[in-house]
Amino acid sequence: MAVERTLTILKPDCVRKELIGEVTRRIQEAGFTIVAMKMTRLTPDTAGGFYAVHRERPFYDELCEFMSSGPCVPMILEKENAIEDFRTFIGATDPAEADEGTIRADFADSVGENIIHGSDSVENGKKEAAYFFTEAEVVANKA
Ligand code: ADP
Repeated sequence: MAVERTLTILKPDCVRKELIGEVTRRIQEAGFTIVAMKMTRLTPDTAGGFYAVHRERPFYDELCEFMSSGPCVPMILEKENAIEDFRTFIGATDPAEADEGTIRADFADSVGENIIHGSDSVENGKKEAAYFFTEAEVVANKA
């Protein structure tokens, strides 16, 4: 299996609930290597750019408002089969449908406020990583 990178975001609800440590611990325990990480705060515009694919969806404004409601923690993670494995690890978008033991099942309140993001393809992962990080901020690139 190929080593892949995925972009995750610990969303503002994760930060508000003081779950940065717990979720990061679980990410590392599951075998993902953190190769870039920062805390930042999106604006409604930069959140909207990140989720541009959802622009026509009814929840878009709510999503932009939520994603800019407080600080978030984007990370680039590396692992074999990272994209699919991380999606399995975080669980379904709606926590009510997420498998037991997944991050969203354990910590998320609703389909909107669902704690964590994970890229859905290698290609999107690259684009999303570039949205938050310069090449120089990716530690593995400097090794
Ligand atoms: P995922 O984050 O699991 O890849 P999507 O790409 O479908 O899910 O949606 C992006 C984000 O938009 C979700 O993580 C969630 O925060 C929000 N979202 C999705 N569907 C809804 C909905 N029906 N109502 C409110 N927010 C939603």
